[in-house]
Amino acid sequence: MSVRTRFAPSPTGYLHVGGARTALFAWAYAKQRGGQFVLRVEDTDRERSTAASVEAILDGMAWLGLAADEGPIFQTDRYDRYREVIDQLLEKGSAYRCDCSPERLDALRESQMAAGEKPRYDGHCRDRDVPVGEGVVRFRNPDDGVVTWADAVYGDITVANAELDDFVVQRSDGNPTYNFCVVVDDSDMQISHVIRGDDHINNTPRQINLYTALGLTLPVFAHLPMILGSDGKRLSKRHGAVSVLAYRDAGYSPDALLNYLVRLGWSHGDQELFSRDEITALFSLEAINRKGAAFDTAKLDWLNAHYLKTMPIELLADQFRESAATAGLALEGGPAVDAVVGLLVERVTTVNELVDQSRYFFTEFDAFDETAAKKQLRPVAQPVLESVRAALTELADWQSEAIQAALAGAAESLGVGFGKVGQPLRVAVTGGSASPSMDQTLWLIGRERTLARIDRAIAFIEARVAASGD
Ligand code: GLU
Repeated sequence: MSVRTRFAPSPTGYLHVGGARTALFAWAYAKQRGGQFVLRVEDTDRERSTAASVEAILDGMAWLGLAADEGPIFQTDRYDRYREVIDQLLEKGSAYRCDCSPERLDALRESQMAAGEKPRYDGHCRDRDVPVGEGVVRFRNPDDGVVTWADAVYGDITVANAELDDFVVQRSDGNPTYNFCVVVDDSDMQISHVIRGDDHINNTPRQINLYTALGLTLPVFAHLPMILGSDGKRLSKRHGAVSVLAYRDAGYSPDALLNYLVRLGWSHGDQELFSRDEITALFSLEAINRKGAAFDTAKLDWLNAHYLKTMPIELLADQFRESAATAGLALEGGPAVDAVVGLLVERVTTVNELVDQSRYFFTEFDAFDETAAKKQLRPVAQPVLESVRAALTELADWQSEAIQAALAGAAESLGVGFGKVGQPLRVAVTGGSASPSMDQTLWLIGRERTLARIDRAIAFIEARVAASGD
């Protein structure tokens, strides 16, 4: 049997990293087994489903490169099919109409809870012949026996039918419910492996009973352990960014995020780095861990920095250009982008940071960093900057070796160490106290800009001296 998996998000919000992990596992398993991956949008909750959320899910999937072989299929396009199956169930006596009022259901729930029982529908309408068009439709769950399945992650799970109730398959407004549609769809779409979050474990025995009532073949179920936040509770907004697109917008690489997510609950020995090809070659359901996996932003950052450093420079430069455009940083007239990103990549975690740290290569900075200026642009720095300026003006060749030699020569003639020259110069030309080596930095900034910025720093020192009345 060919392997077919699916990702079935409800479009009621953004694509959560937990959802993306589920999608990744389903995609990776299908690819590993030479099968197909289906994307199904579960949009029957019409009040909570939005077009913006569908778009965010599709954008997130596309950005991560999790391409579906089929879909997106929308459940709201399949209502005729659902009606057909509900009629089948009614005809067979596997479902019945129920017109119990909300008041009756509330009273029932309260009395059951007061008696210390788990609230469940009592089957009141099972044999009442409620007229067509009224009330909800309920599945007639078997009264006795157990439901057992061999979960590909959790092993054998058994639930007594006495624990389950006659769940609603069609609401009074005619809308079919999740537990019903998911069975019809997974069966119609010939899904062989249902891979989803373990928050659905409670739904699985209900769904299995429905498969059985409809005489359908059961898929394999694999429930994924939840993703935890730093406090051991289910990962949520409280723990920081959980939307896939937020990571995109923060300048993370999709390959790094994918690599990070594949290790959340799955392992292959001690390996931490997985290319897309390795994921699809090595992924297996057997190696999924049952324990919840903790989301660790520091590890994601480490992976992202690694991906930035190891990706082809042209690709990094492209991402840099995109991110610079979003940040409103104009690159025209500046140094070669490849050279700038190559110089800065060792120092950053994300592409956005790369853009942020590269500003002084492409544009004039508004002001010197206050702390850096206080420390480095003092009167003693003035003769240093003047002598560096003279040495750089005279340079025949604006190349980093020559620049380095000129700076060393200036330090020597002033009788000071290189740091006494380098630090004020760094603040003068970059505005702050963090930058790559001075020779490379000056080379890329260019002579004209470098000299103008040294002049600006000297004027700054002079103005400071004048203002203090020294
Ligand atoms: N639509 C469900 C959800 O977003 C997925 C259900 C499933 O995978 O069976 O939680």
